[in-house]
Amino acid sequence: MPAIRILPDVVANQIAAGEVIERPAAVVKELIENSLDAGARRIEIEFSKGGKNLIRVEDNGYGMSPDDALLSLERHGTSKIREAADLLKIGSYGFRGEALPSIASVSRFTLRTRTEERPHGTEIFVNGGRLVHAKECGMPGGTQIEVAHLFHTVPARRKFLKTDNTEAAHIVHLSRLFAVANPNTSFTLLENGRTLFRSPVCQSLRERVGEIFGRQIASQLIEIEAEEEDYKLTGLIGKPGVGRATRHELVTYVNRRPVDSRTLNFALIEAYHTYIPKGRYPLAFVFLEVDPAKVDVNVHPAKREVRFREEGRLRHFFIRAVLDRLREAATVSAVGVASEEPKPTPINLQARAVPDFGKGLTGISSSPATVSRPIAPGAPIQLEKGNVDGAPVAVPPEPFKIATPAMEGSLNWRYFGTAHGSYVVFETDNGLVLLNWRGARGRIFYEDILAGLEGKSQNCQKLLFPIAFELDALASAALEEHLDFFQSNGFEIEQFGRNYYRIESLPDWLDPGLGEGFARDLLSLLRERGLNPNRPEPAREEIARLASDRLAQTSRLFGQVEPVRLAERLMTCRNPLNDHRGRPTFFEISWGDLEKKFGK
Ligand code: ADP
Ligand code: MG
Repeated sequence: MPAIRILPDVVANQIAAGEVIERPAAVVKELIENSLDAGARRIEIEFSKGGKNLIRVEDNGYGMSPDDALLSLERHGTSKIREAADLLKIGSYGFRGEALPSIASVSRFTLRTRTEERPHGTEIFVNGGRLVHAKECGMPGGTQIEVAHLFHTVPARRKFLKTDNTEAAHIVHLSRLFAVANPNTSFTLLENGRTLFRSPVCQSLRERVGEIFGRQIASQLIEIEAEEEDYKLTGLIGKPGVGRATRHELVTYVNRRPVDSRTLNFALIEAYHTYIPKGRYPLAFVFLEVDPAKVDVNVHPAKREVRFREEGRLRHFFIRAVLDRLREAATVSAVGVASEEPKPTPINLQARAVPDFGKGLTGISSSPATVSRPIAPGAPIQLEKGNVDGAPVAVPPEPFKIATPAMEGSLNWRYFGTAHGSYVVFETDNGLVLLNWRGARGRIFYEDILAGLEGKSQNCQKLLFPIAFELDALASAALEEHLDFFQSNGFEIEQFGRNYYRIESLPDWLDPGLGEGFARDLLSLLRERGLNPNRPEPAREEIARLASDRLAQTSRLFGQVEPVRLAERLMTCRNPLNDHRGRPTFFEISWGDLEKKFGK
């Protein structure tokens, strides 16, 4: 049996390096954090060949004494925490005392540092974890660290690195994140002596974002500030309508630490759902302050992930804060006083109810019949109310007139043909009728489904082959919250594993082939709007509208008889004039109008 041995420090450090230092950008991160922890007001970062050949970080922080300089390279040498309990109230970036020894174990590492009080600095050179020399040197107050030939002691790891360009992109992104979070410190980033960015001490976050990400982006941002109990959210978010093609400008910080948090990212994406076109990402530089005892930054050695206690509450807070701000901004710009962006007064979210379906995402006006969302390009769902009783009836342009159809009896419309795939042309006694047949279908589905939903007993179809599907953790939590709602509307859904579900039955109006997609759409609708159990009508209308969209899109129209039946069926609807989204279903051109057109 092999005997147990304690690993030499060099080996232990190299193993730790595998965790802490996954790529050159991670070295940059550790060094910047140390500089910030040391109170630096000026930080200069330089790298070459994606950081593989050289990374240099210099600061004017408080430096280290010769003894401390040596200690800083010992495993678990840290000045930042003393006991485990301190972990709960970490105010500094670093706390493990792992970074420097790890980096030094896998590179040619030079540390030069001087405190203000001492006449000389200290220079320490370590190669692959072995101390080569330590001596006095002349230098200004602060610390300079050079990391050359990263991973030269572990060639296997070097192979895992991506191209220089990719690694460089990571370094640039990371440096930007820290620069944005610390406007009071000047930042310079150089690649091979060429300046990538240089930002002096800035007065504000907006100024810093402008320096680093460009003036254009800075001008598209609005301030956000919200507080709820122990949460505080501040920063800048994109104006309504402003989205980006990538996530690079969706930046979140927790207690000033840049984090890659699914919870926060999803909350932002969700809040912007109807404020930016589909497929675009929100623009945000937001800072969450939360009691350090409520977030665990100790999850991953590289500390990119965070874990929150009370995720759900946090998510809610985040979404509401952002939504409130977006609505406010949309209202302001709609009224036309948006040029000077007012600083928002902190919003007390405690008093506010979760948005419900009815008020949902409407913005400007509170009058229900005329509400339209102010700026929401690509918004999937309009929230006009009262469609059934005919509220937003679109008036067709002259010279067309809406025919007032005879509601009973057979409709003397003779099929003539189909034009442009979408329009059925009929000849009637009075003239020509152009019918948008998908709109007609949409209206019929809408009223049928709504009637089904309003009826106490929902007609279900038990599926022969249940539909299995997977959700991410957030969606899964939302589904559980809304299972009753689904149930009462004819969806029987069962969980059969963590985040796995099975649809056992569907409402009878829904084609099983559309079941999963529909359930997902409905779920995102519920998550976005929240659901008010006391007011089921708006929710039902949404379901019916959503379902009608899907059904109308996929339906077909055949032959000569079906169009006539369709028209007749349409005329029995409560509102045959408009489809389920308020658009006209048909026009009539009277013979008289036609004759006028031809100058008769
Ligand atoms: P940690 O940051 O987790 O404490 P590190 O290995 O990154 O561990 O650094 C070890 C110690 O070295 C720090 O606690 C700090 O006292 C000192 N140190 C590192 N970098 C600097 C710096 N740029 N300026 C002053 N002190 C530093
Ligand atoms: Mg550190």
